[in-house]
Amino acid sequence: MSERSADGRLCPLCKRPTAENFRPFCSKRCADLDLAHWLKGDYAIAKREEDDEEERADDIDKKDQV
Ligand SMILES: [Zn+2]
Repeated sequence: MSERSADGRLCPLCKRPTAENFRPFCSKRCADLDLAHWLKGDYAIAKREEDDEEERADDIDKKDQV
């Protein structure tokens, strides 16, 4: 394997060469990390809007799983 990916791009998370199967990331790990970030951010925003209706216990349980 060369140091560069086919298209010369680098993983936005760790700056390693991207992998064909996981573009634009270098690995499943980075792809999952980015997805987790995205979902967390989205969840946090949604959470604020309906904060007083949701159950706190459910919130804690989800955070533990991530
Ligand atoms: Zn990466």
